[in-house]
Amino acid sequence: MQFKLRRYPTGFESLPKAGIGAGMTRSLNPLDWIDAVVAADPDRPFLRFPHGGGQSYADLRDAAGKLAGALVAMGVKPGDRVTVQIEKCPAYIALYLACLWTGAIFMPLNTGYTQAEVDYFTSDAEPRLFIAEEATPLSALTDRDDTAPSRHAFDSQAQAAMLYTSGTTGRPKGAIITGGNLGSNALVLAELWGFTADDVLLHALPVYHTHGLFVATNTVLAAGASMMWLPKFEAAQVLSLLPQATVLMGVPTFYTRLLSLDGLDRESVKTMRLFISGSAPLLAETHDQFRARTGHAILERYGMTETQMITSNPYDGERIAGTVGFPLPGVDVRIAEPDADGIGMIEVRGPNVCKGYWRNPEKTAADFRVDGFFITGDLGKVDARGYVHIIGRGKDLIISGGLNIYPKEVETEIDALTGVVESAVIGVPDADFGEAVVAVVVGDVTPEAIRTALGERLARFKLPKAVHVVDDLPRNAMGKVQKAVLRDRYAS
Ligand code: AMP
Repeated sequence: MQFKLRRYPTGFESLPKAGIGAGMTRSLNPLDWIDAVVAADPDRPFLRFPHGGGQSYADLRDAAGKLAGALVAMGVKPGDRVTVQIEKCPAYIALYLACLWTGAIFMPLNTGYTQAEVDYFTSDAEPRLFIAEEATPLSALTDRDDTAPSRHAFDSQAQAAMLYTSGTTGRPKGAIITGGNLGSNALVLAELWGFTADDVLLHALPVYHTHGLFVATNTVLAAGASMMWLPKFEAAQVLSLLPQATVLMGVPTFYTRLLSLDGLDRESVKTMRLFISGSAPLLAETHDQFRARTGHAILERYGMTETQMITSNPYDGERIAGTVGFPLPGVDVRIAEPDADGIGMIEVRGPNVCKGYWRNPEKTAADFRVDGFFITGDLGKVDARGYVHIIGRGKDLIISGGLNIYPKEVETEIDALTGVVESAVIGVPDADFGEAVVAVVVGDVTPEAIRTALGERLARFKLPKAVHVVDDLPRNAMGKVQKAVLRDRYAS
């Protein structure tokens, strides 16, 4: 079974100006978008802080210019890496922009990394400057009063950022992300999701990851909109601030936590026009419950560090739970070598796709096809209406007795059972079969009940050899279930 991908009607080149702000050009450089806002309305808020105050677009440009001056004074040259390992703070965005200003490469690191991990990243990236709370106090940069240097000419093909990806195999790799990757994706998203200068995005995501750093921030900048800036996600605080916001971008955990609060109802979301979810699969059940409580269909989209955003459910049109919608304008998606059910590896090509991996030509060659398509590592299919479905990471595919088992298929059956909240299905080494299917389930249910129910619905070879009922699944900060942790835990 193979279906055709539906595409959004607009090509990237023909983006209408609506939503991008009066007088703005279609430059791919976020600094140009900021200039246009400052020229029209310097006091327009960029950041709003929950307890009052904020930062205007003119303040933002000033801060970025001063930091750019400080970087130059510290010897940072175009192409140099500037590593930033600090907690989420307003200066984070200004630092990213200061790198664009000087032609340096912005390289954020999760503050959760251990010294050994940081040592690996710095030996791989060889940054000119490492900004960590302890090592080079951020205030040493922000307290200076450098004059803004002249701007380094923006080259959409030059590397603007380096984000290390979780790394499916081996050590994390640095994705070479260009200014054009960032600019093109933000313009498309701002347009597709109907952003205008009146929008207030509730920003509660971490900023060391592409979701909070680029998807959220650049989309807001592209529209000249503003952000309610929170240091971290706290469900009760987010709920209390929804009436001051219009859009929320979140990972699925945001939505399950909001749903656990009684106050989440139609009244609490009356100023909101859009709830977006990504970075991990949103359960159809969460989507349905959220809709029942608030009247909003969460818009799910799909992307990754190496590619920015790839697909999105429609803004105008049906948002279907369990799917990630259609390829973005200008982005080509294909399902490589689909099997009898239409499932194959998702590959993507477009102005959003990174240039490859830092100092790793072997991995770059392995992950890109000769015709320029990037191999995402995600298995997917396209349904009869053209919506893309993510079936899971290719590496999570279980091969038992020589037969392929897609964990998602087994998870979907388990999740449909009464009492089940969610599940994760993994393969563990098995002397007989190579791998054996193991189900880890959250909910008020017994392993026997699950085995009996599945026996009636799935072929024998797909049935879990073991079922573990647990309180919750291990997740990382982006809400992704850590299947590697489960594989270790249940290896025997
Ligand atoms: P990262 O590079 O950390 O952003 O992780 C990218 C990966 O997250 C993708 O390759 C997918 O496996 C997963 N992902 C992102 N968005 C979604 C989504 N909406 N549904 C399912 N998986 C997703």
